[in-house]
Amino acid sequence: MNAFQDKAALVTGASRGLGRAIALRLGRGGALVAVHYARDADGARRTVETIEKEGGTAFAVRAELGVPQGVSSLFTDVTKRLRERTGEPGLDILVNNAGVKVAGAPEEATAEDFDRLIAVNARAPFLATVHALTTLRDGGRVINISSGLTRLRDPASLVYAMSKGALEQLTRHLAPALGARGITINTVLPGATRTGQPFWDDPDLAAQITAMSPLRRAGEPEDVADVVAFLASEQGRWVTGSAIDASGGALAG
Ligand code: NDP
Repeated sequence: MNAFQDKAALVTGASRGLGRAIALRLGRGGALVAVHYARDADGARRTVETIEKEGGTAFAVRAELGVPQGVSSLFTDVTKRLRERTGEPGLDILVNNAGVKVAGAPEEATAEDFDRLIAVNARAPFLATVHALTTLRDGGRVINISSGLTRLRDPASLVYAMSKGALEQLTRHLAPALGARGITINTVLPGATRTGQPFWDDPDLAAQITAMSPLRRAGEPEDVADVVAFLASEQGRWVTGSAIDASGGALAG
């Protein structure tokens, strides 16, 4: 199944976790994948090596997001590397996955925490999408990774949920502008997904989280990656401006 043959994809935060699973899934489908990372160079290298071992093509790109020039340096690098590899800078799939979470009582959240979460989780995807407007080919895809916490009520996750909630506005309001060129843009809302967080080692907490899904199991990165792959594929062409539940039904109430 080469659903992404001749497509070029950029997945931010692909050194581990969900981003890594998404990059592997797109690579397996035949996409040339730009594997973005900030600090975990070894993780990004492992993602690239796994894609290549499976017969795909990929390269790693480093950029700190949430800082001035972060997104523009990322796109300068990606377009240069794409041109070297394919002869043109065009991108087909942008997955805004990189994100940070800070949890704690709302009254303890500092202005610095707030600014940081907004900068990494909302401003960087916004700037990346605006950059992509000029580099995305017609028929392209933008997929923003939000969080199921935007649908729940958890004071400890307030600032994080606020930063992720912005992605749905980005998605809704840009859909018409992108639609004119056959480009879709969607937000994916993962529920708790096993990407190495310590709370999965607490059997009681893990059981509580697992029980939230009617499917009675923990979400795995590959579960979310398959939802992203659907939206990125030709089969996803009629879905745009939407927020897609990827929580195993945990958000369905
Ligand atoms: P991880 O913490 O495992 O990985 C985060 C990734 O984002 C890493 O590749 C990291 O790069 C990158 N990243 C973080 N901060 C920056 C930054 N400032 N600049 C550039 N890159 C950065 O996250 P998950 O895989 O668990 O989550 C991925 C996305 O999914 C996030 O947006 C998260 O909010 C969202 N999500 C996750 C859920 C879950 O249960 N796991 C549930 C709902 C949403 P590096 O390590 O190289 O620095």
